[in-house]
Amino acid sequence: MGKQEDFVLRVLEERDVRFVRLWFTDVLGFLKSVAIAPAELDSAFDEGIGFDGSAIEGFARVQESDMLAVPDPSTFQILPWRGDSPSTARMFCDIKMPDGSPSLADPRHVLKRQLAKAAEKGYAFYTHPEIEFYLFKDSPEAGTMPVPVDRSGYFDHTPQNTGTDFRRQTITMLESMGISVEFSHHEAGPGQQEIDLRYADALTTADNIMTFRTVVREVALGQGMWASFMPKPFTDQPGSGMHTHLSLFDGDRNAFYEEGAEHQLSETGRRFIAGLMHHAAEISAVTNQWVNSYKRLIGGGEAPQYVSWGHNNRSAMIRVPMYKPGKDQSARIEIRTIDPSCNPYLAYAVILAAGMKGVEEGYELPAESETDLARLSDKERRALGIKALPRNLFEAIQVAESSELVAETLGEHTFDFFLRNKRAEWDEYRTQVSAFERDRMLPVI
Ligand code: GLU
Ligand code: MG
Ligand code: MG
Repeated sequence: MGKQEDFVLRVLEERDVRFVRLWFTDVLGFLKSVAIAPAELDSAFDEGIGFDGSAIEGFARVQESDMLAVPDPSTFQILPWRGDSPSTARMFCDIKMPDGSPSLADPRHVLKRQLAKAAEKGYAFYTHPEIEFYLFKDSPEAGTMPVPVDRSGYFDHTPQNTGTDFRRQTITMLESMGISVEFSHHEAGPGQQEIDLRYADALTTADNIMTFRTVVREVALGQGMWASFMPKPFTDQPGSGMHTHLSLFDGDRNAFYEEGAEHQLSETGRRFIAGLMHHAAEISAVTNQWVNSYKRLIGGGEAPQYVSWGHNNRSAMIRVPMYKPGKDQSARIEIRTIDPSCNPYLAYAVILAAGMKGVEEGYELPAESETDLARLSDKERRALGIKALPRNLFEAIQVAESSELVAETLGEHTFDFFLRNKRAEWDEYRTQVSAFERDRMLPVI
């Protein structure tokens, strides 16, 4: 047993931990959890805890359903919303097959595999997510409109204090779990919040996002509200994105920084952006995985609609934030497509794969877009060679289906399951007759 495992076993006693929750994530990004008694932990570290993989979305076929969850001791934390004595802790798990090999359906493994590939080329991948979400007064009820907790807007200091108290409690809990928060504020929509996590390696960030979504929903419930990461809950209000700032490090050196280069952006940085742009449509089924995700990507509300990059251009898909002199370490790029209802492991895996492809193949970066692209006509955009992102989940699935990059990154098993699941979602959606149609047609025809 290693040092970290020993540490966990010691803390269990010191903190009177009565339950240990083993966490992992299904292919669609939902958190799964099994609680074990501390006495079981020794064997969980050694052999893992068995479960029926065929009962988890995307994990296995019935005939090969036995799987093992093996806790990662470096992710051990006490759950602050579960009380002190006795307390409850959690660890993220790696999913293994009975022979000890990694499960091909484990999203954490998909990301680890991609990180290892980048590491072979000498790079570590860091991410900093800006997570937006809505706070509603009550839990959702089918067929009714959700009511936001306030009517405030961007950066407002809400007088009722609902959002402020909520953010304060959430941040306190996150920090007690070792997740640092950099900024938080009211976002543009009524009841809409944003909390930005400090940058970390992409695996830690993906774990942190899973924890974040859980903490936010727990705190909201505790305060009598409902939190949702749905990308676009209202037609006429901004959607919720999860802009992510990205950088590659080569040892201590920020590989995106080059003194004197345009925007201080290195050739590696330029090629990484070119990779993200070249493969943007292919990866969007993963970064924006729901029917509803595409209702956000319609231009306006500062969400991107076109494959583009810009220096401080908030309509662009990739933004290169202004470089602050002396801050070489924080030179970075921001991807603005991704939304907070994605599976963060899979989304960061395809983002890294697309960027690295650009670096490895030496893709040329297209010209920067300096204007609001939504204001140009189709003809003007065509003349500039600017392509649109997929307009709906169907278009996204179509390009993903024939993408070698996505197939290779997700691995055959996850790729097949994912596409099958998404096609089913689209088919179910497209056969729904909606209020939009009835309201338009019944009165006139
Ligand atoms: N809510 C916007 C989106 O859906 C982003 C607003 C911002 O720039 O932070 O992407
Ligand atoms: Mg924002
Ligand atoms: Mg941003």
